[in-house]
Amino acid sequence: MNGIDAETLRGSIPHGTLLVVSAPSGAGKTSLSRALLSLFPDLRQSVSFTTRSPRAKEKEGVDYYFIAGREFDEMVRQGDLAEWAVVHGNRYGTSKATLDAALRQGQDILLDIDCQGAAQLKESCRQGVFIFILPPSLEELKKRLEKRNTDAAADVEIRLQNARREIAAASWYDYIVINDDFGRALEELKSIVLSERCRAARRFGFVKKFFPGAD
Ligand code: 5GP
Repeated sequence: MNGIDAETLRGSIPHGTLLVVSAPSGAGKTSLSRALLSLFPDLRQSVSFTTRSPRAKEKEGVDYYFIAGREFDEMVRQGDLAEWAVVHGNRYGTSKATLDAALRQGQDILLDIDCQGAAQLKESCRQGVFIFILPPSLEELKKRLEKRNTDAAADVEIRLQNARREIAAASWYDYIVINDDFGRALEELKSIVLSERCRAARRFGFVKKFFPGAD
C-alpha cells in the first residue's frame, strides 16, 4: 500500500482523551488523581458543579463550582450537563460545553466522577477510558474514612453503604487499579495514560506525515 486508505482515516481519533476515574469515597482517588496530574502537566482536571457545601480549604472553581439546587435544576433543564448524578445526597455534574471544547482542542481531560455519571458517559462518549480504583478491603476503606475526619459519622456510614454498590460497577470499567500501595497504584495509572496515548488511532497524525497530500 502506498497511501492511507479511507478506513484508516475513519478510525483516527484526532481529539483528546477522556479519562474517567471512579472509586468509592476514601479509596484514594483524589490523591492519586492529583499525583497523576502532576506527572502529566498537559492533562487537565475537569471541575464539576455540585450542590454540596464547600469543605474547609475547598476553593470555588478549583475543587468544584458550588451552586444552589435551583441553578443545578436549570443546568439540567438546559441540557448543559454531559452527565450528572445524586451522590451521598448531593448533586454533581460535568459541564458539556467545557468537556466538548477540551476534547475538540485535543486536550486530554481527567474526570473524577461516580459510577452513575461514568455509566452515562460510557453510553454517550465513544473514546472514553474508564478506570476504577479499588481500596484493598472494606475494613481498610472504613479506617481511611474515619481517619479523614472531614465528614460526620452518619456520612461515613452512608459512604460505606454506597461503596458496596459502587464496587459492584467496577466490572464494566476498562481498567481496575488497586490502591493498597500508593506508589504502585500511581505507576499503574501512569501506564494506563501512556498506553492510551500510544493507541494507533491517536498516533495517526504522525503516520500521516509519511504520506504528504493523503487527505
Ligand atoms: P466529594 O463530595 O467527596 O467531593 O465527592 C463525592 C463523589 O462525587 C465522588 O465519588 C466524586 O467522584 C463524585 N463526583 C464529583 N464530581 C462529580 C460529577 O461531576 N459527576 C458525578 N457523577 N460524580 C461526581
